[in-house]
Amino acid sequence: MPDENKKIRTRFAPSPTGVLHVGGARTALFNYLFARQNSGKFILRIEDTDTERSKKEFEKDILKGLKWLKLDYDEIYHQSKRTDIYKKYLQKMVAGGFAYKAEENKEGTGKIIRFKNPNIKIKFNDEIRGEIEFNTTELGDFVIAKNEEIPLYHLAVVVDDFEMGISHIIRGEDGISNTPRQILIQDAIGALRPVYVHIPLILGADRSKLSKRHGAVSVNEYCEQGYLPEALINFMAFLGWNPGDEREIFSINELIKEFSLKKIQKSGAIFNIDRLNWMNSEYIKKMDADNLAKLCLPYLKDKIRNSKIKFANQEEYIKKIIKIEQKRINKFSEVGEGVDYFFERPKYEKEKLLWKDENDLSKTKSHLEKITELLSVLDENNFMSQNIKETVWGYAEEQGKGNVLWPFRMALTGMERSPDPFTIAEVLGKEETLSRLKIAKLKIEA
Ligand code: GLU
Repeated sequence: MPDENKKIRTRFAPSPTGVLHVGGARTALFNYLFARQNSGKFILRIEDTDTERSKKEFEKDILKGLKWLKLDYDEIYHQSKRTDIYKKYLQKMVAGGFAYKAEENKEGTGKIIRFKNPNIKIKFNDEIRGEIEFNTTELGDFVIAKNEEIPLYHLAVVVDDFEMGISHIIRGEDGISNTPRQILIQDAIGALRPVYVHIPLILGADRSKLSKRHGAVSVNEYCEQGYLPEALINFMAFLGWNPGDEREIFSINELIKEFSLKKIQKSGAIFNIDRLNWMNSEYIKKMDADNLAKLCLPYLKDKIRNSKIKFANQEEYIKKIIKIEQKRINKFSEVGEGVDYFFERPKYEKEKLLWKDENDLSKTKSHLEKITELLSVLDENNFMSQNIKETVWGYAEEQGKGNVLWPFRMALTGMERSPDPFTIAEVLGKEETLSRLKIAKLKIEA
């Protein structure tokens, strides 16, 4: 339990040696949720002491991803700007006999500083895994700095966690093996021990370590593909945590309220892209039409530009397509898939116009003629799916719905599967609908 009197301060401490993938973003999220839940502070610390491997472009990717996910931090630090602080601690440790200058470093820039290992057993409590014991003997006198100016990872982490008043270290399970060294350094500098929370690794569906193949790409790529940040947040919250009941859809505020370290699981969290897709589709279904249209539009730009159909009112036309797609898509990038018939006339073989139990094309032709006749009397401005349906429904029931509605739909879309013909006819408008019915009829005659 967090000490009531102690301010909760968490940190996300990425090394900018790669992009912000789902694993890192999930760590950031858990730190964020715990801090917000306890009116604490969430700190971002860029661990860029390794100047060879750290890259500005990765730092940019991390910042951009956090911003997109709205995981806003209260304070930000760069380890590369804190050399003086580390130096002070290194000098103190050497003076106090906790560390010593050893051999010359490889670069010839001074003496390596080694930690003087007391060779003891370290016990620490992990909120998720319980008590963990380590014998530190085999760690030897490990190196903590290349010289006074160049601290290594463990030293910088421990000094920073202390200086920044970090109360809880919430990080991936791969951090467990770093903990004994870090506790030894903590004890040497007289730092308080934070609460450790090592969260389970994220595994692919085949239970192997998450790789690019499974989606270990930058979270910014999820943005580009048309996932909603709210959906990705919801999805990531469930990577190792769940509320203990059936609920699955959580807003960030609900997560802040309900998240609990106690409910984090020990076993690996499975990354299931189908689940993300499902969640995203749920969020898309709830979006209002204008906002959805705005976010989907970029994915339709090429289709609009290359369209062979003239739009009377492009904005309305596209909005209607998007409205139809809203029920179907998992992410915005899917919005133009399988709806080419809205941008060009369909191509299909005339046999496709036959409903499955029909083998007489002349009957199909007469159905198309009848639909044409019925729709012709409808006012152009009243060419709405409900009216269209009412106009042809009686005839379709009389003749067999499949016999009539299948060729109607095929004439409009050329597709085995699509939304119903009334909805599509409304989008296409009266003129285009009648033209397509005529083309179908001519196909049969040819
Ligand atoms: N900078 C480390 C990393 O990116 C994490 C440090 C920590 O959380 O203690 O792997």
